[in-house]
Amino acid sequence: MKKNDPAAPLGKGTQAIHEGRLPESLYGEVSVPIFQSSTFKFPSAQEGAARFAGESPGFIYSRLENPTVKALEENVNAMEKGAGAMATSTGMAAITTTLLALLNRGDHVVSTDSLYGSTRVVLENEMPRFGIDSTFVDTSKPEKVQKALKPNTHLIYVETPTNPTMILTDLRKTASLAQEHGTLLAVDNTFASPCLQRPLEHGAHIVVHSLTKFINGHSDVVGGMIVTATEELLTQIKRIGSLFGSTMDPHQAWLILRGARTLPLRMEKAQDNAMKLAAFLQSHPKVDWVRYPGLPDHPQHELAKRQMDGFGAMICFGVQKGLRGATEVMDSVRLITLAVSLGGVDSLIEHPASMTHASIPPKERHAAGIVEELLRLSVGCEDFKDLRDDLDQALEKIS
Ligand SMILES: *Cc1c(COP(=O)(O)O)cnc(C)c1O
Repeated sequence: MKKNDPAAPLGKGTQAIHEGRLPESLYGEVSVPIFQSSTFKFPSAQEGAARFAGESPGFIYSRLENPTVKALEENVNAMEKGAGAMATSTGMAAITTTLLALLNRGDHVVSTDSLYGSTRVVLENEMPRFGIDSTFVDTSKPEKVQKALKPNTHLIYVETPTNPTMILTDLRKTASLAQEHGTLLAVDNTFASPCLQRPLEHGAHIVVHSLTKFINGHSDVVGGMIVTATEELLTQIKRIGSLFGSTMDPHQAWLILRGARTLPLRMEKAQDNAMKLAAFLQSHPKVDWVRYPGLPDHPQHELAKRQMDGFGAMICFGVQKGLRGATEVMDSVRLITLAVSLGGVDSLIEHPASMTHASIPPKERHAAGIVEELLRLSVGCEDFKDLRDDLDQALEKIS
């Protein structure tokens, strides 16, 4: 059901709760039911044929479409202000489906150098098997993107803010480079979520998500989503997604939809905590540096204010004594959990150089700013005071 009439746009909190409902209920149910059915009965042979011909919107088979999954797609699509969306089994499925649907042998991709580890491995090691090559550049510098573009560049793929270095890419400038060059622009919007950043509004063509993170928000389900600026792009991507089978299942969709309903509420609390924690860390004697887009000394603080509706809940910081100091902090936190992943109600800490980004060769890792003393903190929704006290006692263990 389309409620986001552009003449009277609903607030984000309202959208998250009300978008993605069924057109009509069976029993007056308020929650969207889990339609645990692999296949759907056709009322007549003629109707079955019409659905296959794409002339009737009814459901056919759950690898193609499912009502519960569709409700989640509509919810995220409304938040991202897209033309349509496709849910996938994981965030990586959203990314690989997008690449497989849009690229052909001989095509070239320009991408952010400090990317989500598995995305980098797919682009760098796996796509070349299909004749598709990539160049990795610091996309926070538009001139570097421009220099990397080739006649066969068919896609610019960026993450902003970057994981884990918290560097921003100017989406508007990158979108205009893409347009001049006749290239598509895809943005991984996992770190910001549509609550804080809507890349399609800045001229991107495709948004991909790991719903596993902020949108689901409870560290209990994996999932992905692709949102497109046009219906044509969605048709192209959905065809490949259904054919290659990257579909999400209804139970997974129901759980994620339940999480998505509180995204704005959780984000508000988490980023309020993050702002206070960033300031606390900055003043801590055992901390050498802090990078958080909300801090006035972040090199792109002004861009963050222009491009984002908030500064998010991800912080990276460097501790004294390098790897030894970082290890000491990770082994000393009590409330904050030592685990990878991010975006949940519980705060998580990890060490990118030896964990999430260990697969990147050391030289390239350092060049991308992923240094030994860097810790990545995903700030959750606990009480600020408790998070601060936990970090404080853990930092004090650095000797
Ligand atoms: C986690 C993550 C992914 C991959 O998502 P999965 O759900 O784990 O497959 C992609 N991009 C970013 C930025 C992520 O944080």
